[in-house]
Amino acid sequence: MSRRQVVYKTTERERAYARAYYRTHVEQQRASNVAYRAKHPDLLSEYSRNRNQRLKVEAIYAYGNQCTCCGETELEFLAIDHVNGGGSAHRKEIKKNGTGNFYLWLKDNGFPLGFRVLCHNCNFAIGKYGICPHVKLPSSPPQVGAWHRRDTTGS
Ligand SMILES: [Zn+2]
Ligand SMILES: [Zn+2]
Repeated sequence: MSRRQVVYKTTERERAYARAYYRTHVEQQRASNVAYRAKHPDLLSEYSRNRNQRLKVEAIYAYGNQCTCCGETELEFLAIDHVNGGGSAHRKEIKKNGTGNFYLWLKDNGFPLGFRVLCHNCNFAIGKYGICPHVKLPSSPPQVGAWHRRDTTGS
């Protein structure tokens, strides 16, 4: 196992860009969601066997029904993520002050802003690096290309 670990540190500028990127996308997706659900009234019923599953699916539809980053639509891969982090603290608070069900909390609170749908890949990358490799920065600084650069020495 001699595979080299690529260490990537994000700059504050990149993190700020990522935050703005997700904010605008979440808002756009929320805006189009009402129309989407009106067109597909049967979407929820197929998941209605399980209440928790239904709540989760409902939340995912409310937040745009696809990964905010890469567009993944496979429900099994998707989860709701806190746009600005702080997820575990928030979940603890829900547990203390309510049902402990995060998706129910979202529903009861009218699916507030500050959350987004992410697939597990993007969620993982954002958690680990602060920014997903899918996100292309405008006028990208050279280090962003490091995501896709082959590790070729002397080229
Ligand atoms: Zn994704
Ligand atoms: Zn991504």
